[in-house]
Amino acid sequence: MFSWFTQATKTFRHGIHPDDYKELSRDRAIERMPFVDEYVLPLSQHLGAPSRPVVKVGDKVYRGQLLAEPVGYISTSLHSSVAGRVKAIELRHHPSGKMVESMVIERDPYSPQTLINQYSLEWENLSPEELLYIVQHGGFVGLGGAAFPTHVKLTVPEGKHAEFFIVNGVECEPYLTSDHRLMLENEQPIFLGIRIAQRILGVDRVYLGIESNKPDAIAHLRKTLPPDLNCEIVPLQTKYPQGAEKMLTEAVLNREIPSGKLPIDIQVIVNNIGTLASIGQLFQLNQPLIERIVTVTGPGINRPSNLLVPIGTKLSDVLEYCGGLKENTLQILFGGPMMGAPQLHLDVPIMKGTSGILCLTDVEVQEREEYPCIRCLRCVDACPVYLNPSRLGALAKVRQYEEMMDYHILDCMECGSCSYVCPSNIPLVQRFRVAKALLREKQAKARKKAG
Ligand code: SF4
Ligand code: SF4
Repeated sequence: MFSWFTQATKTFRHGIHPDDYKELSRDRAIERMPFVDEYVLPLSQHLGAPSRPVVKVGDKVYRGQLLAEPVGYISTSLHSSVAGRVKAIELRHHPSGKMVESMVIERDPYSPQTLINQYSLEWENLSPEELLYIVQHGGFVGLGGAAFPTHVKLTVPEGKHAEFFIVNGVECEPYLTSDHRLMLENEQPIFLGIRIAQRILGVDRVYLGIESNKPDAIAHLRKTLPPDLNCEIVPLQTKYPQGAEKMLTEAVLNREIPSGKLPIDIQVIVNNIGTLASIGQLFQLNQPLIERIVTVTGPGINRPSNLLVPIGTKLSDVLEYCGGLKENTLQILFGGPMMGAPQLHLDVPIMKGTSGILCLTDVEVQEREEYPCIRCLRCVDACPVYLNPSRLGALAKVRQYEEMMDYHILDCMECGSCSYVCPSNIPLVQRFRVAKALLREKQAKARKKAG
């Protein structure tokens, strides 16, 4: 239907084409999840230092009120997603599997749940430093899953220069559709977020990459793009893991980011489209990051949905709102099937970085017997960063972690493409995760010892 409009030739080299299963939820319009009785807000929501509480148990709080402030540069604020009372500050289950210090907010059942101090912020006359301060204190982190503080990502380090800004509208993980619905339903905050990021970075050249499996989103954004916004919408071939910064940069600009380097080393900054839309809302409504769109999907859920969920809503409440789990559900992941994290407890909260809840049944989750490597090299062809997963897998199996460094294991971004294509069912990415964690721990110990 939109083929002439969205013809996509651009992509990166290697990668895979998994079935995307997006049909389960892509036609479900975003719904606002009703407020529930209790919210759990871990002080650690992102990479970097956890925030420090500025309220105490028993305090009354408003929706959007500051609960905890940043500690240092790589840290952000945390706000209350509901009006209510601080019931406890205590250890609660966290999606990482650990127990983490969290604010527990009991909702005020009589509150209309309006935002505290709702007004639009005059951003045009603010300096980049002032804008970055507002972003940090609005509690912004990457909504694509990595949850890195946004003010850090939008800061060009001393001595570097940004020339290109790439907006990531790829959403390449199978099943997930929250960014797709956002692009179709709420484009104005996206455009405002792009303008603000452009002002912070001082870049003229902006590209918005969208995969061709979202032709309606490409057409809609092209139609609604303000004429004075210098942003090129770039249709991309559908391929995994194109949402990774390195792959997206290669696909859009045909420029490679060298091993061990960041996008800024080749004058590029990349940011997720959902994050930019939330920044747009911050300046439209003075709304800190207190809610996000979450795709609830998979064969195991009764009513797949795209929900606008207050941060801190418990997984059990979301599942109940979506009609509950089917009897043969075996596994729940936060995120997609390729890089998502399995959840062990139903009382874990929706975090700022929770892009999806994927419910898999005994049909999808099956023990697969591992066979010896047959040297087919499918994993080598799939790896987007040109590693040799076959060799790395053999070293990991016999725990020769140091030798894996010679094969650039630390460049592995744990995308899972190698495991996906392996006909011998070798759990490559799982072994690489263990190896990387151990190597990093060893490096940290060595740094500490060296003083
Ligand atoms: S998980 Fe690592 S080794 Fe495997 S394909 Fe992805 S980047 Fe390459
Ligand atoms: S895909 Fe699997 S079987 Fe083939 S070379 Fe890689 S590790 Fe070996």
